[in-house]
Amino acid sequence: MSTDLKTLKEKAKAYLPGMIELQKRLTAIPALAPDNGGEGEEKKAQFLADFIEKEELGEIQWFNAPDDRVPCGYRPNILLTVPGENSERSLIIISHMDVVPPGNLNLWDHDPFDLVIKEDRIVGRGVEDNQQGIVCSIHALKILRDLNQPPAIGVKLLFVADEETGSKKGLQFLVNNHPELFNRDDLILVPDYGNEDGTMIEVAEKSIIWVKVLIKGKQCHASVPHKGLNTLRAVAHFIVESEKLSSMFPESDPTFRPPTSTFEPTKKEANVENINTIPGEDVLYFDCRVLPQYPLESVLEAFREIANKIENDLGVKIELGTQMADQAAPPTPRDSPVVINIMKAVKALRNLEAKACGIGGVTVAAHLRKKGLPVAVWQTITKTAHQPNEYCLLENMIKDTEVMAYLMALST
Ligand SMILES: [Zn+2]
Repeated sequence: MSTDLKTLKEKAKAYLPGMIELQKRLTAIPALAPDNGGEGEEKKAQFLADFIEKEELGEIQWFNAPDDRVPCGYRPNILLTVPGENSERSLIIISHMDVVPPGNLNLWDHDPFDLVIKEDRIVGRGVEDNQQGIVCSIHALKILRDLNQPPAIGVKLLFVADEETGSKKGLQFLVNNHPELFNRDDLILVPDYGNEDGTMIEVAEKSIIWVKVLIKGKQCHASVPHKGLNTLRAVAHFIVESEKLSSMFPESDPTFRPPTSTFEPTKKEANVENINTIPGEDVLYFDCRVLPQYPLESVLEAFREIANKIENDLGVKIELGTQMADQAAPPTPRDSPVVINIMKAVKALRNLEAKACGIGGVTVAAHLRKKGLPVAVWQTITKTAHQPNEYCLLENMIKDTEVMAYLMALST
């Protein structure tokens, strides 16, 4: 590339205060999905669009997915397009605007939506997942503009809604309703997962299935348990039985991290309000990440086997449902230009060898991979996404901005 790496690195570092400020403004707009009790991403999208306009970074287009559960009636997806020397193909960087709820506020050291700078990091809900992607891609573009270097191919920054609750109003909506936005020759980067030094490029994902287990028993006074059927006890038995799932789906693939399928009990809905009542109904959920070779129907069948055993043992009735079932998409080839270019960038800027690998996904990349589009999921992260006191290292913001600027300048 014509731009020397030293200048690029200096520029990225000089933008740190701007990146922190943008992070602070974004964090203050909690873009929670209606499924998580929020109003969606409209305010955050409007703020970003205004910011991009003020910075004169390029043309913005809105792709609104109708959603009557939020006050404005839609979930926004916004696209910033910057023409390149050759705009027949583009480097598309996709970040999501929505965040997950903060969870138990007592576990946070401060207000999750009021960004705090602590030494080498910034802390707040969304700073890493996925504002780091938003902020780095915008600043990479600013660097290119400062250097007076039009990108070699088109650059598109896409900021999507609804990643955290399934992408139906986000990337899935775009892929289905605006397929013209994506091209098989494009280089698509999703900066929404990675590892601590940026050497992991995700190209394959596990299938995902969220299983709902509804257990029906008989409510009664806790002093006469023989008159009821305690569904909380059945929940406990179900969870213990579910440990067998790993041996029912034993295959292992070292390119995935972790290498095996996982079956985790996660959420349990509230049951009775008082301690002296035996619950007659309980609902629990499992989050399962399954290696792509297993059909998801076989996972549901395994759950049914467990349910049958618990029904026989305890006399309860169990209904199974799925909240989400997504069979894994075909992997992105390891020699796709986007994968190769990230490897080159990481080598040139960090002197590290990045590798292609698979994860327990599913990231938004799956929606594109299912259409045969090559996507690399890559960023440099601390992996504090969804946790209390989620943070983003200042250094990671600078370094990922460098890589993105390099990709914009280098990709042909
Ligand atoms: Zn994310």
